[in-house]
Amino acid sequence: MEVRIIVETTFENGTTKRHRVGYLSRPFRRTQPEGFGLLLEDAKIILRQLQNAILRDQIEEISAASRICPDCDGVRAIHDYRSRVLDTLFGRFKVKAPRIRCCACNAKSDVVLGGPLSPLARFFPDRSTPEM
Ligand SMILES: [Zn+2]
Repeated sequence: MEVRIIVETTFENGTTKRHRVGYLSRPFRRTQPEGFGLLLEDAKIILRQLQNAILRDQIEEISAASRICPDCDGVRAIHDYRSRVLDTLFGRFKVKAPRIRCCACNAKSDVVLGGPLSPLARFFPDRSTPEM
């Protein structure tokens, strides 16, 4: 048999996204006792892929939500993306974190706030997840 492990994320806006996080092949004619079920090596790969999928979806959702201007509900432009390295329990991941431009509606407060907004900075101030 073949086993595909798929994760389905439902975002708060109701949209869904699927990620294939693992694949196992267990041809029954060649199955040995030590190859029965999930193996540790399979689990390590699947956990890493699962973590990657969750991280990316969280970043995507937070980034999209952060683009909405709290003052005028307009969508703010992305200034650029910064590469961030995150150390987690399931490995080190390189992610792209957007920086968001201030909205034209409050151009005056740009000076006070000082440049583009980094919505993910507060989640990973030391570039790793809290468990570490
Ligand atoms: Zn605005």
